[in-house]
Amino acid sequence: MRNVVLLGSTGSIGTSTLKVALDLPDRLRLVGLAAGNNAELLTEQTWRHQPEAISLADPEKARALQNVLGTKIQVFSGPEGLIKLATLPAAQIVLIAIVGTAGLQPALAAIRAGKDIAVASKEILVMAGEIVMREAQRYGVRVLTVDSEHSAIFQCLDNQPAASVRRLWLTASGGPFRNTAKEEFPGITVERALKHPSWVMGRKITIDSATLFNKGLEMIEARWLFGVGMDRVGVIVHPQSIVHSLVEFVDGSLLAQLSTPDMCLPIQYALTYPDRVPSDRVQTHLAKLGSLTFEEPDLERFPALNLAREAGEKGGTLPAVLNAANEIAVEAFCNGSLRFDQISETVATVMRRHRRLEHPTLDQILEADAGARRDAWDVIGGGPPK
Ligand code: NDP
Repeated sequence: MRNVVLLGSTGSIGTSTLKVALDLPDRLRLVGLAAGNNAELLTEQTWRHQPEAISLADPEKARALQNVLGTKIQVFSGPEGLIKLATLPAAQIVLIAIVGTAGLQPALAAIRAGKDIAVASKEILVMAGEIVMREAQRYGVRVLTVDSEHSAIFQCLDNQPAASVRRLWLTASGGPFRNTAKEEFPGITVERALKHPSWVMGRKITIDSATLFNKGLEMIEARWLFGVGMDRVGVIVHPQSIVHSLVEFVDGSLLAQLSTPDMCLPIQYALTYPDRVPSDRVQTHLAKLGSLTFEEPDLERFPALNLAREAGEKGGTLPAVLNAANEIAVEAFCNGSLRFDQISETVATVMRRHRRLEHPTLDQILEADAGARRDAWDVIGGGPPK
């Protein structure tokens, strides 16, 4: 039995994690659940899973919830609430599936409290991969991954050293605009960008999949998780999303992990690792799929990949800046103040303006993040919605 704390329980990854927990009642026990604003769904989840403690972003909603639940379940709130859950004495593993940067401090707190972490929130490794991996090594805990691509690589690597790897290949579906002409990019609407061909996910990551920033963030994530340079992380477009990623070894052998797309699989693998536990949820019929195809990504139409490569190669505070500028640009695109093609232009401008620091502290990373957000709004004009 493994005791799990789940941060971001009301989101896309969060609700899939709860399905996995219901599938495996003898293996997984949810001892803590945290959400942002969706008090209604969190209440429902709390009745069903009976955790020891929960947390909501808004203190007032948390107080109201404590009155409903009584004293048996502790209700925390705000950023401190996330830290309380991440360090809950009963927790063995903390799965972080919060969109944005709010998961970074809880991830470090969990590591320092001796808990393994399972990372869905890629922002954590993109912003502070060096610090997170160093702290995990220092406290002797595992950093497991819930991203389907990185889970695939982790499964293929199977503890082989980085020196045996020629290249890691992240597959990308190519998103909804894989075949869309560049001239049409300025007219792309939010509704069209939210229609992902193979995955149902939260709003931010779906837009990132359309610009390929998601793949860019994953390149940086892979670099830290698997301890290889950016020059050994490649991207290949695979529209069927069946091959979740590949490892090319130094002898020329390629190993891949395949399945129909379902986030329950990487979630289950991270939470039960190193065991493989039976589940009927994911079934893959290769003959019905017919063919699997691969193509080069178009770096001209999708500049996000080069921007992420540059940020990952230069390192320091630059990946945090790329991440923050992209978050603001996506928000501006969603509220109608930026065109689709201007998302990457905005990120490129903010990156150019930034004065990079090498081996930054956490405070310097958070400062760079805040500065990049201000800069991005400055580039976009108008400022954040009040
Ligand atoms: P969603 O938008 O669906 O869910 C986000 C979750 O975070 C919600 O539970 C939300 O709560 C919670 N949240 C947001 N802000 C806070 C906060 N300040 N404090 C506490 N909780 C907060 O996102 P996804 O599940 O799609 O993605 C989550 C992370 O996982 C992202 O970093 C994404 O890149 C990554 N990921 C997602 C994949 C997917 O298939 N969806 C695949 C691989 C990685 P509420 O709804 O209550 O406001």
